[in-house]
Amino acid sequence: MAKKYVYNFGGGKADGNESMKNLLGGKGANLAEMAGNKDLKLPVPPGFTITTEVCIYYYQNKKKYPAALKKEVELALIKVEKLMGKKFGDPNNPLLVSVRSGARRSMPGMMETVLNVGLTEKTIPGLVKHSGGNERFVYDAYRRLIMMYSDVVMEKAGGIEPKDDMGIRKQLERIMDEAKRAKGYKTDTDLTAKDLKELCAKFKIKIKEVLGKEFPDEPMQQLWGGIGAVFSSWNGKRAVSYRRIEAIPDEWGTAVNVQTMVFGNMGNDSATGVAFTRNPGNGEDEFYGEYLINAQGEDVVAGIRTPAPINTYSTSEHNKEMLTLEKGMPKIYKELYDIQNRLEKHYRDMQDIEFTIEKGRLFMLQCRVGKRNGPAAVRMAMDMLKDKFISPQEAVMRVTPAQLDELLHPIIDPKIELTHKPLAKGLPAGPGGACGQIVFSSHEAVTWAKEEKKVILVREETNPEDVEGMRAAQAILTARGGMTSHAALVARGWGKCCVVGCGALHVDNAKKELHIDGKVLKEGDWITLNGTKGAVYEGRLPMMDATEEDTLLNSFLKICGKIKRLGIRTNADTPEDAAKARFFGAEGIGLFRTEHMFYGKGADEPLFLLRKMIVSKTVEERKRALEELFPYVKKDIKGTLEAMDGFPVVIRLLDPPLHEFVPREEAKLQQLAKDLNISMKELADRAEALHESNPMMGHRGVRLGVTYPEVSAMQIRAIFEAAAELLKEGKKPYPEIMVPVVCDVKELNDQMAIYKKVYEETVKKYGIKNIKCMFGTMIEIPRAALVADQLATVAEFFSFGTNDMTQMGFGFSRDDIGGFLGDYINKGILPEDPFQSIDQVGIGELIKIGIERGRKARKGLEVGICGEHGGEPRSVEFCHRVGMDYVSCSPFRVPIAKLAAAQAVLKEKAAKKK
Ligand code: PEP
Ligand code: MG
Repeated sequence: MAKKYVYNFGGGKADGNESMKNLLGGKGANLAEMAGNKDLKLPVPPGFTITTEVCIYYYQNKKKYPAALKKEVELALIKVEKLMGKKFGDPNNPLLVSVRSGARRSMPGMMETVLNVGLTEKTIPGLVKHSGGNERFVYDAYRRLIMMYSDVVMEKAGGIEPKDDMGIRKQLERIMDEAKRAKGYKTDTDLTAKDLKELCAKFKIKIKEVLGKEFPDEPMQQLWGGIGAVFSSWNGKRAVSYRRIEAIPDEWGTAVNVQTMVFGNMGNDSATGVAFTRNPGNGEDEFYGEYLINAQGEDVVAGIRTPAPINTYSTSEHNKEMLTLEKGMPKIYKELYDIQNRLEKHYRDMQDIEFTIEKGRLFMLQCRVGKRNGPAAVRMAMDMLKDKFISPQEAVMRVTPAQLDELLHPIIDPKIELTHKPLAKGLPAGPGGACGQIVFSSHEAVTWAKEEKKVILVREETNPEDVEGMRAAQAILTARGGMTSHAALVARGWGKCCVVGCGALHVDNAKKELHIDGKVLKEGDWITLNGTKGAVYEGRLPMMDATEEDTLLNSFLKICGKIKRLGIRTNADTPEDAAKARFFGAEGIGLFRTEHMFYGKGADEPLFLLRKMIVSKTVEERKRALEELFPYVKKDIKGTLEAMDGFPVVIRLLDPPLHEFVPREEAKLQQLAKDLNISMKELADRAEALHESNPMMGHRGVRLGVTYPEVSAMQIRAIFEAAAELLKEGKKPYPEIMVPVVCDVKELNDQMAIYKKVYEETVKKYGIKNIKCMFGTMIEIPRAALVADQLATVAEFFSFGTNDMTQMGFGFSRDDIGGFLGDYINKGILPEDPFQSIDQVGIGELIKIGIERGRKARKGLEVGICGEHGGEPRSVEFCHRVGMDYVSCSPFRVPIAKLAAAQAVLKEKAAKKK
């Protein structure tokens, strides 16, 4: 059968349904579902969807369409005409349509839209007649079409890149502003029908002058122009940037939705709005939304006018004086309320809906699963679970690891916040707290952030072009716009702190100044935002963790804990970190980096002793230094074993190249020389001898233990003695001693001999029967993965050090990759940074081989991961799939890893079912 490219919907029927998102895009699939599903049959304006396959074809065939498309579109249009009793291009009763994008996953504001398509000099009289003689409305629609079409179709899709402020839309806006100024008007609504008619004529002249082409006053030409512009906006700059950030594949393509226009701007009995079946900001089970009387949908999303609340629940400080839809149009509100209820039941999830009221009649324009922030996601999942609306498994799948991450983000210390008066208040669009330096443009946000500065992007209103700056900023603050404005939607999607519609702000972009009630803040000044309340403070307020009290989060994580198979450990080097990770639910330590005790708080003395050991020349000298160091190492390890009592603690023997610890400061060098009783010259010679040209592949890891066995012996003794003392105190320590940077089994044999000897000596010394412990190795060097069967004859456990394995597997320096990574990603050579998410095809293959060979030689070999990837959700899923026993990550990522591990189980089950 020939491929079908166009799917109709409307009139209680639809060719497609919700399950066809890949083909029809999210928007198209949901329009079909709303219109055609037997339980819904909602008032959706009829239309049709051109599939994503056409988009793919279009890009594969030099921007040409499949031959059959034209006919299919014409037939689909006839169906719509029949349903509406109107004809496209009919001078008496014209059908107007909107042309919109709709990818598989929502990309808010990132692609183009053309409205009022089909309106021409010829069809204007017909529309005037059918709007009850409302000439003003019709010419306003016409000028919107001309502005949008020239901008989106003629300029952007035409590949024209105007200089700043010289884009056609800007030029037309200037003509409009001039017309308003000449007549002394304040707002667009002051423009009369005659004014608008004149403006349309002027617009057309300007378009010809600037773009060298006439505005097409022919319906079919407009329609195909619109369709082409939407397809080409899939590869527009904003859409591409957004896809990179959101990891949306380029190959998906977008669908195009052509739908009958309904007008929310036909007078005061018309309106348009956006609503959510539950509050997307905090998850409360309340219908929440905003609307604008006598306006088109774009006006709400663009944040140009501040919308009114749909009901009392949706009111805020900011809009409490405005008339709610519930009060102003009670019958319609009731109908809308009923529809949203049905939609949520039908989809079994919170929906984001767009509606328009045309002359007292309600139309549903869109519904989709609503974006929500982290706190809202957890709350909705747990509420729906409590109401038995969804199963525990579904609840777990309802929260993304990134959303969970938001809950772990800081808030302003509430006690301190109480003592500060906000400079201004706006709408709480994205939760949590953030402080940063003010910048006024997306470009500056990106540049400053690259310099490691924390910035807050302050804008009058955001438009989708700001997307990169919004991403780079700690938070976003806007003067205009509502909870559903672009800034709010995007920020919420990213879990970013965001305050919008802060009316007291006046942003002066030219001077780079922010005026709030007579106060002037400049670029670089610090402000703090509370995105949960919508408050703006001057200066830097201290932040704190939000997780301590969150019982809902804890219950959610308990459910994840029951579902997951992987163990979740943490990388921690201090008793404090260990305790924090335990609080988050860590089930042990997967990596204790011994060397970290020589940095940070209280490290002066042990660091000095370590340095003494490092620059020792003879074994005697070294042994003396080690003896002095021993009590510090033991104490440190004991503290951590105690904090993790009952759980395993993987303690890694000293790893880094020793020269890293040699002091550079004169005073420190002098102190060291004095203590060793050697001259400065002698010390300098010894330090020089430690210098390596390629230290990451030099004298580090197990190689230190091989050349200085006494160093390994001291550490192992410290571990066993700490454990023995804890045993005597009635505790249950469980150390796992791990040897790093191993490439051959003989290295392990060498270290195992020390391990065994010290073990025997310790149990004897303490008079105990045994210490529960294991001896294992890191797998970091590719060769280690290949000879894993040999390593496993000695090692009782493996831990994949994927940081070094990525470094050595790719030959990319983990410290210097930043210099070229950007180019590699932009050119599509690498899909992403392999140090963040495991390169599953390459490094992943080494891991699989390592596990397979290791387990062949030793049944039940314990396998984990302790590289940074252990807390990255996709890598966690990979670790689950290849059968690791646990992942280990930093304490703050423990909940994320737990969720990812639970989701990995559920995804695996779902895949098996298929
Ligand atoms: C690794 O290489 O993955 C690892 C955990 O060790 P480090 O980061 O300390 O080199
Ligand atoms: Mg390493």
